[in-house]
Amino acid sequence: MNLNDTWKKRPLIISGPCSAETEEQVLETAVRLANTGKVDVLRAGIWKPRTRPGSFEGIGTKGLPWLQQAKKQTGLPVAVEVATAKQVEDSLHFGVDILWVGARTTVNPFSVQELADALRGVDVPVLIKNPINADLELWTGAVERIAKAGISRIGLIHRGFASYGNTLYRNAPMWHLAIEMKRRNPELMMINDPSHICGRRDLLMEVAQKAIDLDFDGLMIESHIDPDNAWSDAKQQVTPERLGEMISEIKWRSEDVPSESFHIALDKLREQINHLDDELMQLLSQRMKLADQIGTYKKNNNVTILQTNRWNEILERAYQKSDKLGLSREFITRYMDAVHMESINRQNAIMNA
Ligand code: PEP
Ligand code: MN
Repeated sequence: MNLNDTWKKRPLIISGPCSAETEEQVLETAVRLANTGKVDVLRAGIWKPRTRPGSFEGIGTKGLPWLQQAKKQTGLPVAVEVATAKQVEDSLHFGVDILWVGARTTVNPFSVQELADALRGVDVPVLIKNPINADLELWTGAVERIAKAGISRIGLIHRGFASYGNTLYRNAPMWHLAIEMKRRNPELMMINDPSHICGRRDLLMEVAQKAIDLDFDGLMIESHIDPDNAWSDAKQQVTPERLGEMISEIKWRSEDVPSESFHIALDKLREQINHLDDELMQLLSQRMKLADQIGTYKKNNNVTILQTNRWNEILERAYQKSDKLGLSREFITRYMDAVHMESINRQNAIMNA
């Protein structure tokens, strides 16, 4: 397949080690991935942006010929992360097919601009990972800089967002941000990277499936011939064979089906949803008007806006109802929080008018 066809293939599956370590490791990974018949692009980190010094920082330029060799043996196009102009130059010199901008680079406009300048006049596809912090403007800015350099094939990679403290995931997926980025850039492919979201292999399937259910265009998943002994990101890598199984186990769904009866049924349900949303909006408006009245009353009687007991009572009532109605407490907490915050803001405005 030529690179243009690969770029357009859906789902697009990218896999390979977090880091290229040795020539044997790269070649064996590539061959075993190719044998699964499930992989479209071979990835490998050559220069690794590590959070702390002292960990393996990548094999460097000497690993590029290994990738060239892997491509020759398997026919798989190869993708590499670049963070400096020199890395772009070296990658292109050794025939790397696809470049990607890492999460720690997307955050830095100077670095992204350096890459953009190095890419001017070059016709190579570029994938841009989300910045490590939850900032869609930075992600958008990186896309704009690369696009302005004349790169026409740009894709996005959702790899999750750093959050301090222990969470289930290594990087919080914050799906709503990827969905919003997709909405703003419908013409750009959006790939999901479950490896860096999860940080551990037992969670990969669940995240990959969710991405596919959300109509993502493909997956980038790290794989290694000996995952536990990988020189970087050991906990999240899987063997090439396991990768192949995972791709087979995912339930692939299409965004649309041509059947007319399906569309008629869907339209009917959507109409009902619209109707209910309208009613909910009316009710919310009524609720806020009542909150305004209470605000005025509190102001006239010189009473504080927030009364903790009342808030606890509202939440407790809501939970009792939500349990019976099959609404999760997590959802109801978020919903009630939003409603409550809005009430407080409005009452605040009234108090201080
Ligand atoms: C990687 O893909 O190995 C990598 C370093 O990813 P990220 O930039 O998402 O941390
Ligand atoms: Mn990695």
